[in-house]
Amino acid sequence: MSTLFDRQYVCPVCSNTFTSKQVKTSAIRTKERKKDFHTIFNGDNPTFYGIICCPKCGYAKFENDFKLPLSLKQIEIIKQTIMKSWKTQDFTGERDINSAIKVHLIALVNYTVLKERQAVIGKLLLRLAWYYEELEQVEENLKYVGLALDAFVKSYENEKIDDAEEKELEVIYLIGELNRQLGNYKDAIRWYEMVVRHEFAYKNRLIKNYAKEQWALSAEMHNALKNRGRDA
Ligand SMILES: [Zn+2]
Repeated sequence: MSTLFDRQYVCPVCSNTFTSKQVKTSAIRTKERKKDFHTIFNGDNPTFYGIICCPKCGYAKFENDFKLPLSLKQIEIIKQTIMKSWKTQDFTGERDINSAIKVHLIALVNYTVLKERQAVIGKLLLRLAWYYEELEQVEENLKYVGLALDAFVKSYENEKIDDAEEKELEVIYLIGELNRQLGNYKDAIRWYEMVVRHEFAYKNRLIKNYAKEQWALSAEMHNALKNRGRDA
């Protein structure tokens, strides 16, 4: 029995009606959850299907965003940029990690030309980092970790995070975690500390505990590096 099913979408740019595959919720098997929220699955990876891409015009976004209506100005921007250079590509069927990367990159262009929020762009870049990690492509992985970090920092500094303090806590935590992945242990510690001392940390125990663990790990790494420097 297939673990995928077709869901119907209407493109808000070109009005094309099409179906795109999704993973049945009952078929999702989590194997491992990493500290940057990267989940490893047994079987189909539902995040591969997180982006909906209109095969006719190339408009691509996270499923929830794809369903939202666009302003006339936004439609015009997509038509003038994405649609103009679009060569029919079909991501509506089964996806593997390579087609997932391609469709996420197309979504990245869409979000960028529409000057969407850095918080969403960061989420997209983080997923690309995960996929390159799964492919064991270290350089590409670190490149996207760095880009995701920049986007989350911009989001933290400039964007009002509307759906409550919990999202803000998540962003602060991820800034710490991505710094740690890049070996910036001192910065990582500073952001983890902000999570632990955040006035709403009690509302999200999981993140608070992650931050404590990763803080300890970063302190260890930082000290190890310092000692190595002293011995040399
Ligand atoms: Zn379209």
